[in-house]
Amino acid sequence: MEKLSIHKRRGNEKNFTLVGPFYLNGTDVSVIYFFIDGIGIGPDDQATNPFSRYATSVLSVCSASSRADALSRDFLLLPLDAAMGIDGLPQSATGQTSLWTGVNAPQLLGHHLTGFPGPTLRAAIEEHSILKKFKNEGFAATLLNAYSEKFLKKLESMPRFASASTHTQKASGQPLFTLADLEAGRALYMDITHQIMHQYYPETKERFPIVDAHTRGADLVRIAQDYELVIFEYFLSDKAGHSQDFDAAQFVIESLETFIKGICEAMGPDDTLIISSDHGNLEDLSTKTHTHHRVPLLVYGRLMKDLAGDMQYLYDIPRRLYEIYGFALPPLILPQRPRAG
Ligand SMILES: [Zn+2]
Repeated sequence: MEKLSIHKRRGNEKNFTLVGPFYLNGTDVSVIYFFIDGIGIGPDDQATNPFSRYATSVLSVCSASSRADALSRDFLLLPLDAAMGIDGLPQSATGQTSLWTGVNAPQLLGHHLTGFPGPTLRAAIEEHSILKKFKNEGFAATLLNAYSEKFLKKLESMPRFASASTHTQKASGQPLFTLADLEAGRALYMDITHQIMHQYYPETKERFPIVDAHTRGADLVRIAQDYELVIFEYFLSDKAGHSQDFDAAQFVIESLETFIKGICEAMGPDDTLIISSDHGNLEDLSTKTHTHHRVPLLVYGRLMKDLAGDMQYLYDIPRRLYEIYGFALPPLILPQRPRAG
């Protein structure tokens, strides 16, 4: 065990006992944790897998194909098991809760839960949110998604439509970013380029012109410099998978690969990009449901070697990060509560 010091954003330093031969001395390490809903690793089949048709870079991993550019070869790829030992199709509420807490959420419920977290998962997030954990350890950490005023109003009247990531941010005691934060350059909209925002909210066209995904990648890296950990969530991938829509899939894959390139090209030596998902879906358009496929964990940058260890399940991502930073691990299995949800 070595005592190491990590420079923090607010100018104060703190000593940490780290578990590995790992040096963060004098660095400003920023981790970008990019969550892409519903992408798994499927067979290389152009008839069913849009990644076989359209991916030319990092997301070629989702068709297990060897077509890959130079950038993809610089990524660490670990296929993760989204079922985490529980029967049934992996689902969003349990998968995302595992990604945001390091807890085995389907084990906690005894099944996979679709959609939005219920009381049991919300309680787990409230206690073990990764953003709350980083904040409590003195680090700056946030969810970068900007929410529209209309959506925030809807959440107020129907709080059960709040996603796991929304709860993860709330548990950290920080407000959700709004379109005012997007305007001020502090946040990103979920569609990356504002194109889908204009479809949902035509009145935003002038306020938020279309931005190309590559530029947004650089913007994300710039924003991340103010934090040790930022989370950004993208879910149009899962929507395209459920609608079995190859055109939507093409739009999603091209946006994502351009965005990821923009991120990688803007990253400095102390930055790390982590990409993962909650379950398969988009890689098999022959079915409108999720899949049993493994999901990719992709890592690029500073912490790549440190994250290369024994990673099998979704909950291993936060757990490994906590080990790297020397944080206490949450229990993998929480005591079950009488009510499921
Ligand atoms: Zn879904």
